[in-house]
Amino acid sequence: MKKIVVLAEARDGALRNVSFEAISAGKQISDGGEIVSVLVGGSVSSLGSELIAYGADKVVTVEDEKLKKYSSDGYAQAILAVIEAEDPDGMVFGHTALGKDLSPRIAGKLGSGLISDVTSIEEDAGEAVFVRPIYSGKAFEKKVVKDGLVFVTIRPNNIAPLEKESGRSGDVISMDVEIKDLRTIIKDVVRKTTDGVDLSEAKVIVAGGRGVKSEDGFEPLKELANLLGGAVGASRGACDAEYCDYSLQIGQTGKVVTPDLYIAAGISGAIQHMAGMSNSKVIVAINKDPEANIFKVADYGIVGDLFDVIPLLIEEFKKVKV
Ligand code: FAD
Repeated sequence: MKKIVVLAEARDGALRNVSFEAISAGKQISDGGEIVSVLVGGSVSSLGSELIAYGADKVVTVEDEKLKKYSSDGYAQAILAVIEAEDPDGMVFGHTALGKDLSPRIAGKLGSGLISDVTSIEEDAGEAVFVRPIYSGKAFEKKVVKDGLVFVTIRPNNIAPLEKESGRSGDVISMDVEIKDLRTIIKDVVRKTTDGVDLSEAKVIVAGGRGVKSEDGFEPLKELANLLGGAVGASRGACDAEYCDYSLQIGQTGKVVTPDLYIAAGISGAIQHMAGMSNSKVIVAINKDPEANIFKVADYGIVGDLFDVIPLLIEEFKKVKV
């Protein structure tokens, strides 16, 4: 049995889904041991009970004015203090912007290894086996930790969270940590995202490429994404052409996403784009070129003009939603 510390992430007063997925991953590693969820921020203790409902046995919160905005330095100090107090056998972070920034820093401080971007966990003779994509998703490698801390980051949207149990009991305790010597101070955060839904956690993504032709061309894609409760993404071709912001870019040098449904409209399917989306559960491609590379990874291909096809999809989905 292992004790696992799991980092929970909150944004705008709400927990991110990856926090629950990390608890679920922690359970798979712990072999029946304790799951301690850590929550760091300005004022976060009210979120503790939700982590318990999703399977944490204990929640440790570290609250401080200096932690109101994220800084690697401040968060690392808080988390290292919790790790020192809890003395866990392993840690799970989300493979998010925050997790990717913090995990190597903490692993380095502890002299521990780190298995990053885990998409599933298997079991072999009582040992956790971590599966992670390599070569831009073209192959998978399996890793086990033979010695020391089991420290992993998990890719959002891949490990299902546990069922929520509202009446579940567990301790939510607050820990005082003196946050000192912050070398960087965040003055302001300017966020560029699509209306509300975070691209890396979206269950549905409607992505546009150079075929969208203009900034206005993204409007029908936004309408479809909103209808499906999803987010809008883009190829680098569309970003380079200034049809949309680079924060929407999906691919090797953009975001890596694994939604349940990925609709690619006017995207040719360059290898660098597919590195960011080919592990999506269902891929629908809309392209007027029947030879487009994107059809090679698509589960459903629609050969046609996206400006004809997307309005038809909107019409049909509206009927289903009514
Ligand atoms: P295009 O390749 O021009 O494709 C446009 C498609 O739209 C065509 O297939 C066309 O048939 C179709 N089309 C046109 N009009 C319509 C219409 N009306 N209806 C339907 N279909 C239509 N790219 C990424 O996306 N993400 C990355 O992270 C990334 N990183 C890169 C890193 C490096 C180092 C390099 C060298 C490149 C990278 N690229 C990346 C760029 C990549 O190689 C491609 O250039 C880019 O993905 C092409 O974007 P696109 O598919 O939108 O455009």
